[in-house]
Amino acid sequence: MSGPRAGLGSSVVLKSISQLRDAGLLDEQAGDVEAVARRYAVAVTPAMAALIDPDDPRDPIALQFIPDIAELDHRPEERADPIGDAAHSPVEGIVHRYPDRVLLKAVHVCPVYCRFCFRREMVGPDGLGTLTADALDAAIAYIADHAEIWEVILTGGDPLVLSPRRLADIMGRLAAIDHVKIVRLHSRVPAVDPLRIDAALIAALKASRKTVYVALHANHPRELTPEARDACARLVDAGIVMISQTVLLKGVNDDVATLSALMRAFVETRIKPYYLHHPDLAPGTAHFRLSVEEGQALVAALRGTISGLCQPTYVLDIPGGHGKAVIAAPSIERTDQGHRVEDFRGGIHDYPPR
Ligand code: SF4
Repeated sequence: MSGPRAGLGSSVVLKSISQLRDAGLLDEQAGDVEAVARRYAVAVTPAMAALIDPDDPRDPIALQFIPDIAELDHRPEERADPIGDAAHSPVEGIVHRYPDRVLLKAVHVCPVYCRFCFRREMVGPDGLGTLTADALDAAIAYIADHAEIWEVILTGGDPLVLSPRRLADIMGRLAAIDHVKIVRLHSRVPAVDPLRIDAALIAALKASRKTVYVALHANHPRELTPEARDACARLVDAGIVMISQTVLLKGVNDDVATLSALMRAFVETRIKPYYLHHPDLAPGTAHFRLSVEEGQALVAALRGTISGLCQPTYVLDIPGGHGKAVIAAPSIERTDQGHRVEDFRGGIHDYPPR
């Protein structure tokens, strides 16, 4: 990385095209990005703006957060609700897709807006907003009434944009539900706004008195800055377990070196790599998508490159709300005599039927 970093001095979240231009993160050649910003929310935190090299037109951080006219290219196969949340929403704010767990979507605001977001039709200033007090009461009552719910996953939106007071309220209400054992929060905050992870927020998370997991969404190793790693250390030192989620994105992380560095950075930060998501069919995101076969080849190469600790699970959310499928290519296949199994160098070996 060389060249000036125009966003470095910014202390405000950049939320408009004019702010991005003033920060040197968009130039006149960008085209009608105002039309993109009218359609999809924009926000870039100071921490992320500082990471962008404005001299690099393919900067992987910029690609994730700076609007691009390619987002106006909508394809027939794309869907407003690509993973089918609505089909499994018994009450507002709850998605109950699998028997033992629910999503609780308390807020539809994020600290940054990802250009590939799978919920881009729902999040942002014009999105579904924050649950009203009555809707939150109904969502908590639903969880309390369903004894099969073992895990509550706060997502949205990004639940760590809630104030510690509001987060503590939700966590305290979950504390009163005996059958809920695990509370998981999916967030970009520890990386994109690391100073937000302070004592008050950690105390709020612990108010659930459950086992708390924070799944950090990060897609490029540069997002794991020293400040981000410190924020994660504060969470882990407080007894919160961290796992990762990464979206496989063309131009951002679709090469073995970048993915390896990212997974190692997670493990070094005491974050267990969890999901590597095949990109969803979100509107205006075709420029980020790669084929399943390309993804499988990358995941197979990771197996031969980095420690088992660093291996994520490659998954696809089946459009229509049918849940996740693991889509890594299998290393073993059945033959007439037994099996053929492939080692990490690509060598093929026989294995008996049992
Ligand atoms: S943080 Fe998640 S919900 Fe928010 S814009 Fe990014 S992908 Fe979408």
